Amino acid sequence: MRATIIHGAGDVRVETVPDPRIIQPTDALVRVVAACICGSDLWPYRSMPASEEGERIGHEFLGVIEDLGAQVEGLKAGDLVVAPFVWSDGTCDFCHEGLQTSCRHGGLWGRSGIDGGQGEAVRVPEAQGTLVKLPVGEDSTLLPSLLSLSDVFPTGYHCARTAGVNERTTVTVIGDGAVGLSAVLSAKRLGAERIILMGHHASRTDLGVAFGATDVVAERGDEGAERVRELTGGDGTHTVLECVGLEAAIETAFAVVRDGGTVSRVGAPQYAKVPMDFGVFLRNVTLTGGVAPARAYIDELLPDVLDGRIEPGRVFDRTVGLEEIAGGYEAMADRSALKVLVRP
Ligand SMILES: [Zn+2]
Repeated sequence: MRATIIHGAGDVRVETVPDPRIIQPTDALVRVVAACICGSDLWPYRSMPASEEGERIGHEFLGVIEDLGAQVEGLKAGDLVVAPFVWSDGTCDFCHEGLQTSCRHGGLWGRSGIDGGQGEAVRVPEAQGTLVKLPVGEDSTLLPSLLSLSDVFPTGYHCARTAGVNERTTVTVIGDGAVGLSAVLSAKRLGAERIILMGHHASRTDLGVAFGATDVVAERGDEGAERVRELTGGDGTHTVLECVGLEAAIETAFAVVRDGGTVSRVGAPQYAKVPMDFGVFLRNVTLTGGVAPARAYIDELLPDVLDGRIEPGRVFDRTVGLEEIAGGYEAMADRSALKVLVRP
């Protein structure tokens, strides 16, 4: 089959790799119908040292089950399924606590001999715990929103949930990438009435407004933080959803959070230390967030997607074929595309 392999910074290739097949009785073989490129895929795309062998890549996909191991129950060949960005058994204590990203028998796509999601097919380990059946056909117009359940939308949702967003909290979202916009949509879904979006790409913040943002702050750094404080009577907001992962963003988060408030971060951190100094201590600010257990949220979010109450798939603004995926990476890296959908 054909699959995407990253060989280093700026070097993404589609190559012929061995066809996946069932190995363990808990496996499923899934033919990929739609996959996508994640903002986190751009970190190796920008910085990975050159490698002749390369690595499989891609962790967001949905597809049709073609074959199943003997021990997999509740799924059958022909089912359309979505895979969260971490695979998990669904039976260990962490899975039962809704923290499938810490599953004792789970792992990441594209590592340790497991297929990446940006290919024609994937052997899915622990299929019964990992995959979620979608009650639509593979030609459904809902596919982009259903695909967003793999990572980007639950990641934004995790940010809002762990921050404690509700109808009484004011919210600042930092970042107008696909995760930031998903966080806006999530805060709206959780009842927030005041959602300030910090971002400076007008086409993206326009979608943020469509998703529920009430204010847009285009200024960055100290100037941006000052603007958010101005908008909130000098206090900042009860919750701050940091969806970038850069040091400047987490610094802005602490500058715009209200005393007693909560900063949640879901942008994969590209910094080593969080600026929680004595001043932050005196303000009783909480830090939360982390990698999102997407599997835990899919059951909750799926009904809203199926009946069209929310359309998180609007973050996809470009579709490419698998053989053209290198162009998709380039477009996301130079920001001419917000999020790229891939059709093998
Ligand atoms: Zn588990």
